[in-house]
Amino acid sequence: MKALNPRFAGLGTTIFTVMSALAAEHRAVNLGQGFPDEDGPEEIRAAAARALIEGPNQYPPMTGLAVLRQAVADHDRRFYGLDYDPVREVLVTSGATEALAAALFALLSPGDEVVVFEPMYDCYVPIILQAGAVPKPVRLTPPDWSIPEAELEAAFSPRTKLVLLNTPMNPTGKVLTRDELERIARRAVAHDAYLLCDEVYEHLVFSGHRHLPIASLPGLRERSIRIGSAGKTFSLTGWKVGYLSGPAELIGVIGKAHQFLTFTTPPNLQIGVAHGLGLADAYFESLATGLEQRRDRLVAGLRASGFTTLPVEGSYFVSADIRGVGPALPDDDYCRWLTATVGVAAVPVSAFYVQPDPPRHLIRFCFCKTEATIDAATERLRSRIHSAA
Ligand code: PMP
Ligand code: GLN
Repeated sequence: MKALNPRFAGLGTTIFTVMSALAAEHRAVNLGQGFPDEDGPEEIRAAAARALIEGPNQYPPMTGLAVLRQAVADHDRRFYGLDYDPVREVLVTSGATEALAAALFALLSPGDEVVVFEPMYDCYVPIILQAGAVPKPVRLTPPDWSIPEAELEAAFSPRTKLVLLNTPMNPTGKVLTRDELERIARRAVAHDAYLLCDEVYEHLVFSGHRHLPIASLPGLRERSIRIGSAGKTFSLTGWKVGYLSGPAELIGVIGKAHQFLTFTTPPNLQIGVAHGLGLADAYFESLATGLEQRRDRLVAGLRASGFTTLPVEGSYFVSADIRGVGPALPDDDYCRWLTATVGVAAVPVSAFYVQPDPPRHLIRFCFCKTEATIDAATERLRSRIHSAA
């Protein structure tokens, strides 16, 4: 039999699936894979449930239901002053993952270069490679995950087609500042590159920080695409409803890729999400403040067990430095040990790197959990980590 596509045949299972399975096997508290352990607003679920019974349940329009495209456009104007035409400049997808795939397939040609920032979310590079393009990773520097100037400069070339950004960032919890966005944008403009920004954690930003879509910076709208996800914004990760906004010429071509990836997304879920995007500002504020309290609770618990934690400005995640806490193991072995022996699952940060020699002393914990779950995890860490080592 002939060899299968080596890009996929050679891939392992995602670290999130691996760690969730290990957590289940050992009955560990799962702070690995990023998902809330409480579902989002009942009124959103009720709107979707009603639409499931009452319909429509047939193919919705390829670009998304009009009511959801309008809700995305209204959301982008309300929060960022961005003005998108809901008919030609918004596209609904099956999660941010499909939005990323559709955008990368539509915008890239073989041989194009894509500037990315590592550590980064695990689906980026496999999709870029399958598009025939070449990732150009810039490695951020912990603990504040700053962008090194010389490496940023070196990542761009006349072949740079696109910059793929993620803010707030997974796994680092970093929120890019205006200055950082401008440093990236200046090069993108100089090389006439597109800016694709994964903003799935846009509403999960903590005190002292603000999410800024790169599309909202002067002069960048025409080369920028933003991606959002109802999974994160409404704590409904299983729904897989995502959306893109950008200039009509780009969204039009991304729609061509989308029509042959999934074509459409379940209409009742779209109706639920349209309802959610229309919720009052108070919903979005309480989402962030509630999560910030849980960040602080988990960070306090990790520190009580001897971990040093890195700053977290947004997202679901905190990184902890494992050096000197428990056994001296590289991060992936440490996570397996922590899950099996201490009963708490985390994710190794090295899984988010594509270049050789990633840091091996950082593990990522997820805090979008109930206080009871966080307390159960930190109690196990406190009582077991030193005796088990
Ligand atoms: N981008 C980032 C940075 C993520 O963390 C996630 C979460 N899984 C996604 C994209 C995918 O989002 P979705 O579940 O909407 O496909
Ligand atoms: N985004 C989630 C995380 O980073 C996981 C998504 C997935 O399991 N594919 O943990």
